[in-house]
Amino acid sequence: MESSEEIRHYLHAHPEISGKETETAEYLIKYLSRCSPSNIYRDDRSNGFIVRFSGRRKGPSCLFRTELDAIPVTEKSNVPYRSLKCGVGHLCGHDGHMAILCEVAARIASKGISSGNMYLMFQPAEETGKGAERMAEFAKEKKINCDYCFALHNMPGYPTGSIIIYEGTYAFASAGIEISFTGRPSHAATPEFAETPTDNIFSIIKDLEKRNKPDCFSTIISVNIGEENYGITPGNGKLCLTARAATDKNLKDYINHIINISKENAGSLKIATAIKDFFPATVNDKKANDKVIEAAKETGGKVIIAPEPQKASDDFAFMRSDNECSFFDIGCGEDHAPLHSENFDFDDSLIKTGADIICSVYQRCQQDL
Ligand SMILES: [Zn+2]
Ligand SMILES: [Zn+2]
Repeated sequence: MESSEEIRHYLHAHPEISGKETETAEYLIKYLSRCSPSNIYRDDRSNGFIVRFSGRRKGPSCLFRTELDAIPVTEKSNVPYRSLKCGVGHLCGHDGHMAILCEVAARIASKGISSGNMYLMFQPAEETGKGAERMAEFAKEKKINCDYCFALHNMPGYPTGSIIIYEGTYAFASAGIEISFTGRPSHAATPEFAETPTDNIFSIIKDLEKRNKPDCFSTIISVNIGEENYGITPGNGKLCLTARAATDKNLKDYINHIINISKENAGSLKIATAIKDFFPATVNDKKANDKVIEAAKETGGKVIIAPEPQKASDDFAFMRSDNECSFFDIGCGEDHAPLHSENFDFDDSLIKTGADIICSVYQRCQQDL
């Protein structure tokens, strides 16, 4: 069998973007089939799949997620296994996360597990935020119920091999908000006859700028007023923004505020609002976090409590139901290239770190018996 490093290097050289991870899935399924799993559940509506290993005795079910996708950026590093595809690269380290789960599968293949169910979830389209919701639905269709759900990500800026724990929120909730205004155009020489949304849109932007706080803020994505026609005072416009907050409740209140001030500012203009790309906050449970902390202590990983949540949302939030969740990070070096940068390469030493933690976490969850 290939080593986990060889698997990582193969995946790194053959990256596929979100939703197109067919060869990645085929390659992994071929490997994982040789690890004597109890079952491999393949989703016929996506490239995702879930591998199950069951122990001889009953016990808690634990799910560990990895992502299958790469990003649409050309790799610039000179590693011998660099991407063979121009314009696509494993620059977020998902190749490493997949190798970690392959290492876990290989260890189970040689030693087995005594109790419970270990589910390894290979999720497509994480980068576009489209994959996890489908995989959560797929798990339900297959009647896969888990007591615990875990995910990890490698993280530059922290010491190599350190385990970063997020108490409460791991990643912010977010939503795209589209606010459309419809008024009445006029000749540019007689703007007094127009109902134009220019002032309305700018007063909303000013209000939101004043309200921005580190744990609840918005980013203006686009402003469109009229079109490039110098003879016309525009009669319509559209403001698009992304709102983010550390909790679902705060995001909901913030969205309501944005909609209310838009209505208050609309005057005689007609207004329509739409919510797009909604992500709940990814919230960790103490019980699941504690399993990771205990596992880190056992395997010698330095535990760091993250000073603040990630402000970018993660679709792992859709995995949350009545289970215990923990999303943690593994440090890949203070000076490591940032995620998504052209020179990013996953640190191979973290394959063992990640697999050690997962196996230890699993054992600790089984002690709930
Ligand atoms: Zn990424
Ligand atoms: Zn990632």
